Amino acid sequence: MNSIATLGSHCSLQVLKGAKDEGLKTLLVCEKRREKLYKRFPFIDELIIVDSFKEVLDQKCQSILEQNNAVLIPHGTLIAQMSSDEIESIKTPVFGNKWILRWESDREMKEKLMREANLPMPKPVTNPSEIEKLSIVKRQGAAGGKGYFMAANEEDYNTKRNQLIAEGVISKDETLYIQEYAAGVLAYLTFFYSPLKEELEFYGVDQRHESDIEGLGRIPAEQQLKSDKVPSFNVIGNSPLVLRESLLDEVYTMGENFVEAAKRVVAPGMNGPFCIEGVYDENAKFTSFEFSARIVAGSNIYMDGSPYYSLLFNETMSMGKRIAREVKLASESNQVDKITT
Ligand code: ATP
Repeated sequence: MNSIATLGSHCSLQVLKGAKDEGLKTLLVCEKRREKLYKRFPFIDELIIVDSFKEVLDQKCQSILEQNNAVLIPHGTLIAQMSSDEIESIKTPVFGNKWILRWESDREMKEKLMREANLPMPKPVTNPSEIEKLSIVKRQGAAGGKGYFMAANEEDYNTKRNQLIAEGVISKDETLYIQEYAAGVLAYLTFFYSPLKEELEFYGVDQRHESDIEGLGRIPAEQQLKSDKVPSFNVIGNSPLVLRESLLDEVYTMGENFVEAAKRVVAPGMNGPFCIEGVYDENAKFTSFEFSARIVAGSNIYMDGSPYYSLLFNETMSMGKRIAREVKLASESNQVDKITT
């Protein structure tokens, strides 16, 4: 393979800069309205201009990618804008395992894989009438936290749900998913599993900053009580975090368990970057509410290399560059089918 392609959003700049640094050609599937932005970056060799990202499924787009011998790097925008069926129908080789992306999008499948990996999870609540402790109510798919809310009991749930429906944030027929709220320090743990080396690497940790739940903490309680706004968890940006070194062993174990579980449940397993997302409580016990089975936007913090990757590589290594390195190695040793689906 001699080029890397991705959709113009999320972490595309990091991915394509990393590919360029590895000497690969770079292609960006770019919406017309963002052409001006992406033209600013000289490491992008070719823009494939589209009206909508769904055009990636069209013959025209796929044949450009094929002519360029491209590997497509999936990220959050691909998942948010395409159905699992559409993603699975992409003919261009997709980096990692495109089949596992369905397990990320479907809440029940997600829970099943997390259970299989032995990840400690918040208790799911099957019915609003069973809300006993503070709970978080989520929408299906990767909604990025928009329209999520907290509920202390059934009545609270109904009030907030109705309010969000009236505001047009969520729809009346939407199935909402409830789980107990886990309080603590947020930590999004990013890994890379190399099927070529059969090795798990720990890349780094980030924290997500979510509006307007975070903004609430800056307002005195008196004003908070007067507000009737339902705060949401819409992601605005990310910041870096390093963990107490004594937590690292468990972090690797969780990553390894996840890789092993994915191998059993969804062949060829969890290849490439992935993220286990959760919180540490007052006893430094981790509870995981979510995983992403592909590169996450939090990796953008470390475009110049992460603290943990500087321990593994004697060069600056972003996740984008790490992906490109794997593609290059696979290509040189005729093992591209091992790293793509
Ligand atoms: P994405 O796909 O963008 O990661 P998502 O829509 O799948 O997001 P989650 O990551 O599950 O949603 O949740 C969004 C945010 O809500 C989290 O980043 C976290 O701040 C908060 N959150 C989710 N579940 C819990 C929980 N059980 N306890 C505490 N906070 C939670």
